[in-house]
Amino acid sequence: MDIRQEVEALNEELVSLRRDFHQHPELGFDEVRTSQKVEDYLRECGFQPKRVTPTGVVAALSGSGSGPSLILRADMDALPVLEQNDVPYCSLEPGRMHACGHDGHTAMLLVAAKVLSRHRHEFNGRVVFVFQPNEENSGALPMIEAGLLADYPSDAALGMHLWPALPTGQIGLSSGAVMAGLIQFKIEIRGKGGHTGYPQQAVDPVLCAADLIQSLQMIQTREISALEPTILVIGKINGGTASNIIPDTVTLEGTARYLHEDRRNAERNLRERMERIIAGVCATHRAEYEFIVLGSSPVLVNDPLLVDVVRPAAQDVVGGEHNLVRILTPVGEDFSEFSSRIPAVFLFLGCGNEAVGACYPHHHPRFNIDEAALKLGVELYIRAALKHLG
Ligand SMILES: [Zn+2]
Ligand SMILES: [Zn+2]
Repeated sequence: MDIRQEVEALNEELVSLRRDFHQHPELGFDEVRTSQKVEDYLRECGFQPKRVTPTGVVAALSGSGSGPSLILRADMDALPVLEQNDVPYCSLEPGRMHACGHDGHTAMLLVAAKVLSRHRHEFNGRVVFVFQPNEENSGALPMIEAGLLADYPSDAALGMHLWPALPTGQIGLSSGAVMAGLIQFKIEIRGKGGHTGYPQQAVDPVLCAADLIQSLQMIQTREISALEPTILVIGKINGGTASNIIPDTVTLEGTARYLHEDRRNAERNLRERMERIIAGVCATHRAEYEFIVLGSSPVLVNDPLLVDVVRPAAQDVVGGEHNLVRILTPVGEDFSEFSSRIPAVFLFLGCGNEAVGACYPHHHPRFNIDEAALKLGVELYIRAALKHLG
């Protein structure tokens, strides 16, 4: 039986795994049921899975001879979204939803592990299956810090994301920077509360916040080349209790994203620029501040040599070069914690299909995937691993 037929024979199992994860979404670092199910499935396939972090699962599969080691990675976390889809496998947890497709990623990698375990005599070296918690908020780093790459030394890593902006049957694959570096931050502006009739006796953090939101935009329009895309957006403002009271504090939260390959300095430079402007504006308003980085991940950069290895595998899956496209997105993805340490490739698996309602963007309450894409993802994991280790 060839790989395609073998995956096809497991399609029902693949879809029911995905639907089971979809019905039981768990937020980042709380993937208790999911990680248990992953571990049980791997054990049934003959693996000896290990926990690297409380919900981070790893299993290794050795081939017939010595050779390189390849990480295949999937993420398992869901989002705090109230699902609005009308499907029989809707989320059973109100306010939690797999709105980013990680249910599909987990199911695809499990079935890929099962199939690859039957083909271990066809490759040398080792495949390391990594099931990662909390992709939405920097969950890769704790696994790496807990010794993932030290305990399972690897030469390369491969990850993928279900991508409804591409139709089923297309794959996004290209070299260089493909997903943005991301800084999630919070700024607390501390003024001095008072009566809005006597603003001179207070220090108004609302006015300071308004000034700061404007001034921070200078970074992208006046300090960084337009050829080095940078996006700085405040998504949340919190402060004040009544129209006639000047509050003590205002809190801002936002994201800064950058999409250029300068991995070492881009984040540091951006943080320094932000802090300089925050300090200057707050000093102007006589306010104090605290600048807190809630999480960050570097730019996701695809290694050109590894892209060349994976390209023929991707062509085999989707029937030729014409179905491979270039994707470049300001969305962040913490697979970059792997790509900044070892050669890595991240692919975008088309799963868009309006006929089945798979036409909403990631994180939307009606996000869904065309499940026909799942088996293509499994095949992609398998063929890429066999190409790299074969
Ligand atoms: Zn997401
Ligand atoms: Zn995602």
